[in-house]
Amino acid sequence: MPFNYDPTNIFARILRGEIPNKTVYENDHALAFHDIAPQAPVHILVIPKGPYMSLDHFAIEASPEEQVGFMQAVAEVCKIAGVEDGFRAIANTRAHGVQEVPHLHLHILGGRVLGRMLP
Ligand code: AMP
Repeated sequence: MPFNYDPTNIFARILRGEIPNKTVYENDHALAFHDIAPQAPVHILVIPKGPYMSLDHFAIEASPEEQVGFMQAVAEVCKIAGVEDGFRAIANTRAHGVQEVPHLHLHILGGRVLGRMLP
């Protein structure tokens, strides 16, 4: 399927420095910051710096360096957040996944028992 990235989305604006964020970690290929409306004691978003709409878009089109950089950011965020007891990683995708922001973001949720995966 074609992936049509919209550069006006709010996370693209964060990456351009037009909107502030509470950065947790950053490397050449990814940025991690606190979710503005946390749903758990730990709620951090990890986003690639490249223009990717979704996890499948990223997996298909991102370079190996971008993919490694993104996963390294996930590892660092988990260390920084101290989620040794566990966490959940969610990438809501398109309409059925109820994705609000069309730039790939991995939610890292933790800090308490999160319950079943779906209500
Ligand atoms: P999703 O439904 O997976 O697209 O979730 C989008 C997430 O982005 C939500 O959890 C929002 O609270 C979060 N969010 C929206 N705007 C901002 C922002 N400016 N800074 C941090 N998080 C944001």
